[in-house]
Amino acid sequence: MGAFSRSPWILHYDASSCNGCDIEVLASLTPIYDVERFGVVNTGNPKHADIFLVTGSVNAQNLKVLRTLYEQMPEPRVVVAVGICATSGCVFRECYNVMGGVDTVLPVDVYVPGCAARPESIMDGILQAVGLLEKKREYMKSMHGRMREMTIERALPADAPEILALQKIVYQNEAELYDDWSLAPLKQTLEEMKADFQNRIFIKAVVGGKVIGSIRGYMVQETGHITRLIVHPYFWRQGVGMKLVQAMEGWLPEARRYETFMGHKSTHTMEPYQKLGYARVREEKVSEQRDRVYFARERQAT
Ligand code: SF4
Repeated sequence: MGAFSRSPWILHYDASSCNGCDIEVLASLTPIYDVERFGVVNTGNPKHADIFLVTGSVNAQNLKVLRTLYEQMPEPRVVVAVGICATSGCVFRECYNVMGGVDTVLPVDVYVPGCAARPESIMDGILQAVGLLEKKREYMKSMHGRMREMTIERALPADAPEILALQKIVYQNEAELYDDWSLAPLKQTLEEMKADFQNRIFIKAVVGGKVIGSIRGYMVQETGHITRLIVHPYFWRQGVGMKLVQAMEGWLPEARRYETFMGHKSTHTMEPYQKLGYARVREEKVSEQRDRVYFARERQAT
């Protein structure tokens, strides 16, 4: 395997393992097997991790934890299911409280078989994950060169999982900005977002088959309300936000004015609106840490 562009950091999570696989994960980190010789570091912080190592199967208790940890990891990221429980649920898969393997809730990239998975197999899985991580990193870089291929189109409910995952990535930056982890977009469920498709227009920006941005809008009387402008941090400052706002305005042809809002420190979200002529119209306090700032503009006669 060629040189890595940087050391991959792993996050190990015991979903509902019997601890057999966890002991083997630890063994792979000890001097006998020493997976750290490949530059791998075991971290407890999902925001620093590249590889998500999961043991055990998925149940109703750990489902949300798995999703939250995964969503807190920066992209690109790779998921490794360690052991047959994480792979398929093993003999427990028919249990009333077991939902299945990790791929029930997360996209798994590497499966490590075994009960318990042997340290050699775990190391092999980690090295496969490192290779995939490099490929994903290259892919993300190549996306920058493909911005001219970007398409902006109406999103469908089938796009909800991808848009929701992107929303969680983007709003983690917002949560850090305000030191407020109770933001509604971070808590939104897939079912809630699918319900939003009933009364909101969703638009997506797509590059290379991947949703890199989204926005939604709806009408109230003569005002077109535009909300939740999200752009993947890899694609900030490339005009994606402005294009999404303009596209959404086009989807609200009966509007005589447009209105939006964002947090008072969210300058990166304000910027595209301000460039398009939106002006600050009012503010309101929504929490100790955050004020909501409203921007609006009249529709220009054509
Ligand atoms: S695969 Fe075997 S050792 Fe690993 S968590 Fe499941 S039962 Fe335990």
